[in-house]
Amino acid sequence: MADKKEQKNAEIWEKSDAEALEAFCRDYRMFITEHKTERECVAGMRATLRKNGAVDLADAVSEGVVPKAGDLFYTDMMKKSLIVFRIGQRPVTDGMQLLGAHIDSPRLDLKQHALYEDRDLALFETHYYGGIKKYQWVTLPLALHGAVAKKDGSVVTVSVGENPEDPVFGVTDLLIHLAGKQMNKKLSEGVEGEKLNILVGSRPIAGDAAEPVKANILAILKDRYGIEEDDFLSAEIEVVPAGAAREYGFDRSMIMGYGQDDRVCAYPSFRAILDEEVPSFTSVCLLTDKEEIGSVGATGMHSRFFENSVAELMNLAGCYSELNLRRVLTRTRVLSSDVSAAFDPDFPDVMEKNNCSYLGLGPVFNKYTGSRGKSGSNDANAEYIAYLRKVMDGAGITYQSGELGKVDEGGGGTIAYILANLGMQVIDFGVAVLNMHAPWEITSKADIYEAYRAYRAFLASASEPCV
Ligand code: MN
Ligand code: MN
Repeated sequence: MADKKEQKNAEIWEKSDAEALEAFCRDYRMFITEHKTERECVAGMRATLRKNGAVDLADAVSEGVVPKAGDLFYTDMMKKSLIVFRIGQRPVTDGMQLLGAHIDSPRLDLKQHALYEDRDLALFETHYYGGIKKYQWVTLPLALHGAVAKKDGSVVTVSVGENPEDPVFGVTDLLIHLAGKQMNKKLSEGVEGEKLNILVGSRPIAGDAAEPVKANILAILKDRYGIEEDDFLSAEIEVVPAGAAREYGFDRSMIMGYGQDDRVCAYPSFRAILDEEVPSFTSVCLLTDKEEIGSVGATGMHSRFFENSVAELMNLAGCYSELNLRRVLTRTRVLSSDVSAAFDPDFPDVMEKNNCSYLGLGPVFNKYTGSRGKSGSNDANAEYIAYLRKVMDGAGITYQSGELGKVDEGGGGTIAYILANLGMQVIDFGVAVLNMHAPWEITSKADIYEAYRAYRAFLASASEPCV
């Protein structure tokens, strides 16, 4: 454990119940195939929660439900972030065990004035969301997912491009024969953000409309979804890679799928709180939006949504006061689960081999993230890491410890420091990914299953409260 070279990537495969590992990863693969946006994740998880007897916190508040051990409550913020509580045997004032992850992923968003026609082609303007390498998003089959809110109060849900019979969309690229100038540009400039336009049609409508191809698309949108052009002003349409997540490699040991940052942590966290029936400490699964653009806004981690929801829960339990709430937050332990960069043999230069993450060695503890001199990092407390080592070793979990890359190579951040601002014990702990932020990201099934087991072990740990 002290030396990375001593860690064996056969360990998880050898010790695991192969059937359980494959079943979990099949469920995961289905989930990320069917839930590609934060709205879809929240809607799908709410449905699963209701099937499992969970109660909407707002309903519990209006009915004055008194929480008891084992009860599940959930609440969402604007349908884009979700909190799940599983009541523990101990009073909530002893603190909570919290699994945090995010359910937004890099993508292209449609602009408010999206649809235009140019030389008999109809296109959608986009504005990319999160950190992307723009050249990776051209010439791929893309799908449209999202919601269109209309003035009459109704919301139309859109998903086009996933069923084999659906059409797909995409961003065109210049043919190599005419790309002399483009190929000599810097990689960051070869495909410009303003040129990430989505081709959506080429057939004119009958009659003498000024822009007949655009008019035809508008007629189709009106007919199929009841959407007018102005409705794009109040729409959130996300353009994402079309198609299912797949098993990857001859040995089927990996999964390739869109948006595994961070649904590869969000899904196992969600399953852990569903499956951990009566924990010792009250458990929380917190799945947030807007991580990829700085955790901003009402649905991001900087919002007061989480604190407000804990206050509501404590009020139901009859223990709310501002001071008690502050105490509960400082007594809470957190696994801030976000992906880590896996070592890529094609790019060894950006990694420091003793302190990077490898596929198949289990979920990764990142004591700190940040860039340069740990700037912007949550630097987890040594005593907290010792507690987690004891929990993980006690449960026979295989895990690794790593940094994103070499000290001067770049960096990244997560929601960890925001929760740490509340006085919680927090560490980053997630699954290693190849191709991070690319349209199709790769993970190891061994790591996914082990992350789930690790989250279960964390929720089940029944030692003394912190502080
Ligand atoms: Mn992430
Ligand atoms: Mn990310």
